[in-house]
This record gives sequence, structure tokens and C-alpha cells, in this order.
Amino acid sequence: MKTIFKIMLLAFIMGISFSITACNSNNNQEKMITENTTALFPKGEKLTNGYFTGDAYLQTLLAKDKNNNFVLGSVTFEPGARTNWHTHPKGQVLIVTEGEGLYQEKGKTAQVIKKSDVINIPENVEHWHGATASTKMVHIAITNYEGETNAVWLNPVTDEEFNAANKN
Ligand code: MN
Repeated sequence: MKTIFKIMLLAFIMGISFSITACNSNNNQEKMITENTTALFPKGEKLTNGYFTGDAYLQTLLAKDKNNNFVLGSVTFEPGARTNWHTHPKGQVLIVTEGEGLYQEKGKTAQVIKKSDVINIPENVEHWHGATASTKMVHIAITNYEGETNAVWLNPVTDEEFNAANKN
């Protein structure tokens, strides 16, 4: 009789502690999901300038001014979205703040870029950046000026080029 009571008590305590653990792990999971999906900056305005394929958005964070010879912006690429091929006369730095995307220089294999990656793009190197076919990517872009020019826009990245980049 005593043993049965002990077993019942033990089962009761284990049941409570299991509930507490489950509750804690649910809370942590909820917190993690919240942290992982909270955008650093607003999405901004949809880009309709013809230099992007798919759904891309720009939130300008800082315009060029008397001290800073660059424009700072947060660019959001929905899955499948990417820039045209282009160059920057004084280069560009990308800081990925969310998700996973692609960066490719002409004649080279595309590379996967993900949150916290910093990409230092040299001047006059033809390249493109964007999401992957299945994942969104957000990056901050620091784009330097030469005079009033910070980019020279070229041809769109074709579906064939984009598909090949996604297979690497
Ligand atoms: Mn660029």
C-alpha cells in the first residue's frame, strides 16, 4: 500500500514538472519565433524602377549628405526577387540582416549569403544580389557615389541565370 502511494505521488510530481517544462519550452519557442521574424527596419516602398525582377522593396535609411558620400538603405527581396546585373563606380557593402539569398559576380559561381554576412563589392565589378527561389533575403546596402552616380544598371538576371545560381 505504501509503495503504491509512493508511485502515485512520484507520477503526480513528474506530471507537474513535465507540464512546467512543456510550458517553458513553448514560451521559449514563441520568443524565438518572435525574435527571428521581427524585421530590423520597415520594408519600405516597392521598387518599380525596372532594375529589379520580382518583388523587392527599399527603405532608405540615410541619403548622401555633405559628410557621407553614400546612400544607406534596407532592401527586402521576396523569394525569386533580384537586382539586374549592375556595377558600382565606387563599390558597395551589403550587410545581410534577414534570411538567405544569393550574390554573384559575372563569370563566377553564385554564393549563398545569409544573416550577418558582410559582402564587400569592388568598384566596376558586374554582379547581382537577391533572394533565392524559395527564401526571402533582406540586406542593408551602403552604396558609394562617384559624382552623382552610385550604380550603372545592366540587363536583368534571366530565369536561366537565376535557376543556375539556385542549383549551386
Ligand atoms: Mn550591387
